[in-house]
Amino acid sequence: MSWDSGVRKVVPYTPGEQPKRTDIIKLNTNECPYPPAPGVEEKLAAMDMDSFRLYPDPEASALVNVLAEYYQVDPEQVFVGIGSDDVLAMAFMTFFNSGKPILFPDITYSFYDVWAELYRIPYQRVPLDAEFRIHKEDYIADNGGIVIANPNAPTGLMAPLSEIEEIIAANRDSVVIVDEAYVDFGGESALPLLKKYDNLLVVQTFSKSRSMAGMRIGFAIGNQRMIGYLKDAKFSFNSYTMNRPSLEMGTAAVTDDAYFKETCGKIIATRERIKKELSALGFSFPDSRTNFIFATHERVPARELFEALKAEGIFVRYFDKPRIDNYLRITIGTDAQMDRLIAFLKDYLAVH
Ligand code: PMP
Repeated sequence: MSWDSGVRKVVPYTPGEQPKRTDIIKLNTNECPYPPAPGVEEKLAAMDMDSFRLYPDPEASALVNVLAEYYQVDPEQVFVGIGSDDVLAMAFMTFFNSGKPILFPDITYSFYDVWAELYRIPYQRVPLDAEFRIHKEDYIADNGGIVIANPNAPTGLMAPLSEIEEIIAANRDSVVIVDEAYVDFGGESALPLLKKYDNLLVVQTFSKSRSMAGMRIGFAIGNQRMIGYLKDAKFSFNSYTMNRPSLEMGTAAVTDDAYFKETCGKIIATRERIKKELSALGFSFPDSRTNFIFATHERVPARELFEALKAEGIFVRYFDKPRIDNYLRITIGTDAQMDRLIAFLKDYLAVH
């Protein structure tokens, strides 16, 4: 026996590569290619360095209040954290303690099983169908909780809200987490269902549609009792999760709604154009409602395309996992970036 027999050993999540090179087209981690709202830059320029001496507001009230107003809920219904990863990890720890297995799709955000392993939560991966669709019947079973990304990642596919509602309604004794990291790109949010169901927790992020992955801001909205439990866990872990710049700039980002809508609109327009271009080149993909497209080619293996693109300085994401190892997840960049991608693919596929 040595000291490491008592260690909590985990196999960590592997985030997408953040290359040191800057001369690349980075379409591998679903970041937004456009800058944050102009108000964020103004806030940054006006930040008072002297305030850094002081701890931030442990309640993160400014950000919580502006989110509550934006989403028309009570501030007691809002929980914020260091990216939605932090919020989700905290929610797993807080809500999934029954000892019964939690359920999530076999193809989904690959952090879910990592958190389940970390917190020793039993889990079952529920297979999506051949078209990567969720079937609600599969979630009508005894369980210790449910997590569904909607739209899903990395498939990009959205389940109809009616289906999500049936899952929530059939599981009133479990917490159902709906991870809406990508909902702003044409998805349908489960937030209105909060009026009907107290077992729903909706999680969103500033990392994609608000162009602030680097600031690490995520949030959850649920009923007051649920958020109270989350806060108790957070205050038993780290009182000051949100730093001062994140609080100030996050608040500024929410305030500029026109810019937010314009940015999402641009991404959606580019995505729809690129869907047509990819189809014409022999790719097929689930109908994305996100800021990425999960594409497979009729002839050339995904791994080969991934390597060829990388050699060209175009980074996309490849998952060497069962059922999805012939797909590329391509983040939607600017029109110019996507034109470079399409031009390269056209040339490559003409000779391979
Ligand atoms: N959920 C899903 C489905 C995601 O794809 C991501 C991005 N990796 C996250 C949550 C976490 O994003 P963040 O921590 O940047 O908010």
